[in-house]
Amino acid sequence: DEKILEVRNLSVSFHTYAGTSHAVRGVDFYLNKGETLAIVGESGCGKTVTSKAIMGLLPMEQTEIGGSEGAEILFNGEDLLKKSENEMTAIRGSKISMIFQDPMTSLNPTMRIGEQIAESILIHNEISKADALKKALEMLEMVKIPNAAQRLKQYPFEFSGGMRQRAMIAVALACRPEILIADEPTTALDVTIQAQIMDLIGELQKELNMAVILVTHDLGVVASVADRIQVMYAGKIVERGSVDEIFYQSTHPYTRALLSSVPKIHTNNKETLYSLKGTPPDLIHPPTGCAFAPRCEYGMRICRNKYPETVKFSETQECSCWLHHPKADHSGLPENMVR
Ligand code: SF4
Repeated sequence: DEKILEVRNLSVSFHTYAGTSHAVRGVDFYLNKGETLAIVGESGCGKTVTSKAIMGLLPMEQTEIGGSEGAEILFNGEDLLKKSENEMTAIRGSKISMIFQDPMTSLNPTMRIGEQIAESILIHNEISKADALKKALEMLEMVKIPNAAQRLKQYPFEFSGGMRQRAMIAVALACRPEILIADEPTTALDVTIQAQIMDLIGELQKELNMAVILVTHDLGVVASVADRIQVMYAGKIVERGSVDEIFYQSTHPYTRALLSSVPKIHTNNKETLYSLKGTPPDLIHPPTGCAFAPRCEYGMRICRNKYPETVKFSETQECSCWLHHPKADHSGLPENMVR
């Protein structure tokens, strides 16, 4: 598999009035050409900050990226963190595109849909406006908007929520990006439309051979579309694996808690279901040990003192939790928890 993106040692801190918030704390991952990687976690876990860092969309005045050891975001081998704002503008929307939960954050309410798509084509390509509009029509057909020729002339407010999401996808994909970052793309939609939009993203991904990063709080959304999943908690990746590994053999108590809130998943009934109480930690003063400890029913003494070392279970699956580490004292813990 050829890597299209490699994020190395990414840390992101924000300077706020209350102090420096360590939103992302040393994150490493890669994305292969054409695959779908899901980044899953509650709001504030650092998943959106990570995707904005890739897009170069963080407010630079208040933000510090990299920390003492330096970070890299390699896109086809080139470090995006070293690019100028002009270079990032050329990449954004043409080679890497992003869609959001609320289409109105990227659609212009005062502009006809067709013109918006054409505009995003014209920014990155030297073609005539007529040709760009022709491409815009193709894009609307590609995202399966009925009566595309008429729809081209309408404004966003004339579209339903699901149609707006499709239009936003058309804008994002107009330049055939190599990577699409979809941040909670279906959260605001009802369940039927959610499934349609996810299917559409999956189809377009194959058609355009593009890689997708799917950012969501909802593990249920990713089951049918993701190749790999990484779970983030308090600015770190706590577990990662293939979809099957995460759904059927997850090891981190936090992943299991997220899974138990997914309604349609058949869990092995010998296992207990985990409930998620409490809130994530304050990232202005992140804990030294496992950040999940205050919410974890399996916490051991070591958990609060030392950040868990990573345990590797397969080529693709690894987990940062003392439960599975030989250095921790597992006496008194349920046997089916420890792997
Ligand atoms: Fe729970 Fe300890 Fe694992 Fe953290 S390291 S998730 S506190 S068992």
